[in-house]
Amino acid sequence: MKALQFLGDSRYAVSELPTPTIEDDEVLLAARSVGICHSDVDLLQGRYIIPFSFPVIPGHEWSAEVVATGRKVTRFAPGDRVVGECVIGQEHFGFSISGAAAELFVAKEGWLHQLPDDLTWTQGALVEPFSCGYYATVRADNLDASDTAVVLGAGPIGLGVVAAAAARGVRVIVAEPDPTRAALAQSLGAELTLDPTAPDVGEQLDEMTGGRRADVVFEASGKPAAMAAALDLAGFRARLVYIGIDVGGSAPAALGQIQSKELQVRGIIGSPGVWPQTLRFLARSGVDLSPLVTSSYDLASAGEAVEAVLQDRSQVKVHITSSATP
Ligand SMILES: [Zn+2]
Repeated sequence: MKALQFLGDSRYAVSELPTPTIEDDEVLLAARSVGICHSDVDLLQGRYIIPFSFPVIPGHEWSAEVVATGRKVTRFAPGDRVVGECVIGQEHFGFSISGAAAELFVAKEGWLHQLPDDLTWTQGALVEPFSCGYYATVRADNLDASDTAVVLGAGPIGLGVVAAAAARGVRVIVAEPDPTRAALAQSLGAELTLDPTAPDVGEQLDEMTGGRRADVVFEASGKPAAMAAALDLAGFRARLVYIGIDVGGSAPAALGQIQSKELQVRGIIGSPGVWPQTLRFLARSGVDLSPLVTSSYDLASAGEAVEAVLQDRSQVKVHITSSATP
């Protein structure tokens, strides 16, 4: 079977590997759609937040069809459409454990969830990134239509925050310098856009909010300067949720605002424990993140998908697809 492998030193290949075998509590899956994420680039280049070793098959944002089940598997049968969680105890699927960018791959039954019938394979592979954005809105304490939220950064996670917040009735303002991504945010429900690089961004927000600024700020850019600016854009008693990742950067910040504006500041990692809730939300809200997928490649051309992510800054989400069945 074909699989995309990261080999070390930023090298990768589409390799021919033996068909994997399953244990009693495992499920053999045929990949249908697999998203490439910024953290896959970190993995390719040898940086990741937990230890791992090359060669590794990436792919933690995926949808797949069940091909075979182990003797002890009770919740799934061949033909089922599924998605799966990627943070499994101390291990990360698609990082420290081989992932889904392969014609066939193995997962434990306990990691899997049924993909609702209404969701396509493409939408299924967007459940993982959306679950992170959705989780940010869950952690924003009683987020509802009374809130004006500023979302800093319209990458895949920020766009998921925009869609989830807008579906909850929130007035969403997106702060994103790239006009294409800002337009995508508007198509997903953002009412207004701000250029966060403008010198008068605070005054612009005052105009949009009658001087109140944001009730909620979601920091989804992972840029230290934006992490600092989130404090400035927050109104009195605002809730701030930090989801963008930065390791080791720094920026000057007016920290006194945490006290003087009575801010609630919270950081979150991933989407622990909210997958069933995320899938119910997606199935009922009609939120459709498939416009995020700016190109897709067959697994045999997965190298082109990696290059598109590395070279083409206009890409938002690149997918690898497969229709293989054993
Ligand atoms: Zn990801």
